[in-house]
Amino acid sequence: MNYVIAVSNEKGGVAKTTTTFSLSATLSEKDFQVLLIDLDPQGNLTLATGLEPKEIRNTSGDALLDGFSLSDCIRKTNIKNVDIVPANNRMDAAEQSLPARLNYALILREAIQKAHLAYDFILLDCPPALGAVTLNALSASNLLVIPTQAEYFSAYALRDMMALIRKVRQEYNPQLAYRILITLLDQRNRTHRTIRQQLQQTFGIGLFDTVIEIDTRLRESPIVGLPITQYRPNSRGSQQYRNLAQELVQYVHQTNHQTA
Ligand code: ADP
Ligand code: MG
Repeated sequence: MNYVIAVSNEKGGVAKTTTTFSLSATLSEKDFQVLLIDLDPQGNLTLATGLEPKEIRNTSGDALLDGFSLSDCIRKTNIKNVDIVPANNRMDAAEQSLPARLNYALILREAIQKAHLAYDFILLDCPPALGAVTLNALSASNLLVIPTQAEYFSAYALRDMMALIRKVRQEYNPQLAYRILITLLDQRNRTHRTIRQQLQQTFGIGLFDTVIEIDTRLRESPIVGLPITQYRPNSRGSQQYRNLAQELVQYVHQTNHQTA
C-alpha cells in the first residue's frame, strides 16, 4: 500500500529523526513492512541504523539528482521488516540544484511510483529546512507528521509549516493531511502544559492524542545502534512510540474507509 509519511519541521532538534526511527521500530513490531528514506544531508537516521554516511553510494541524493532507481538504493537494517534508503552530503547538492529543474517538486513522488515498492509504510526523515527537498517530501506524502516541542518558538514556527502545507495542497498534493506530535514534553513544566493546551485549542484533531515525553533512554539508544524498542523495550519512550503507531494505524484505517 506504500502509505507515505513525511516527518518534517524547519526547526532542528525537535525529534524528527528520533520519531522516524522509533516509529519504524514500533510499526515493525506490528508486522508492517517499513521503508525509511533519509532526506537529511547530515544522515543522522542513516547513522542510527548503523551505516556510515560518508562511505556509502546509492543514496537518496543519487536518486533525486541522478535518477538512480530507489530500489537500487535500499539496504536492510538490523530491525526486522525495516529497510532504509540512506543519505549523505550528496543531499546538499540536491537542495541547491533541484529548483533549476522542471517540475522539481515531484521528483521524489515519481521516483517512489517508478520503483514499484511493496511496503506498508514509507517514512521520510526531512532536513530542518523548508526548501526543495522538504517540498518534494510533502508532495509525495499522504500524511505529514510535525514533531514540535511545547515551547513558544516551536509553536510559532508552525506558522511557516502551515503556509507550506497550503502551498503544497494548492499546487501539488491536494490530499496532504497533517498531524502535529508534541515531543520532548516535560509534564512538570508549567510552560509546557500551557503551550500544549494552546496547541490543542488551535489545532484540535490536527494534534495527535499521543505525546512523547522526555526520556533519556531515547537519547542513548542511537549510540548503541538500536531502536528504543530493542534497547529498553519497557521504557516510557518505547511505550509512547507504540501508542503513536497504534494511533497512526487507526487514523490510516479510518481515512481509507472514508475514501473507499
Ligand atoms: P531532529 O531530527 O528534529 O533534529 P533528533 O531526533 O535528532 O531531532 O533529536 C534531537 C536530540 O534530542 C537528540 O539528541 C535526541 O536523542 C534527543 N531526543 C529526542 N527525543 C527525545 C526524548 N523524547 N527524550 C529525550 N531526548 C530526546
Ligand atoms: Mg534529524
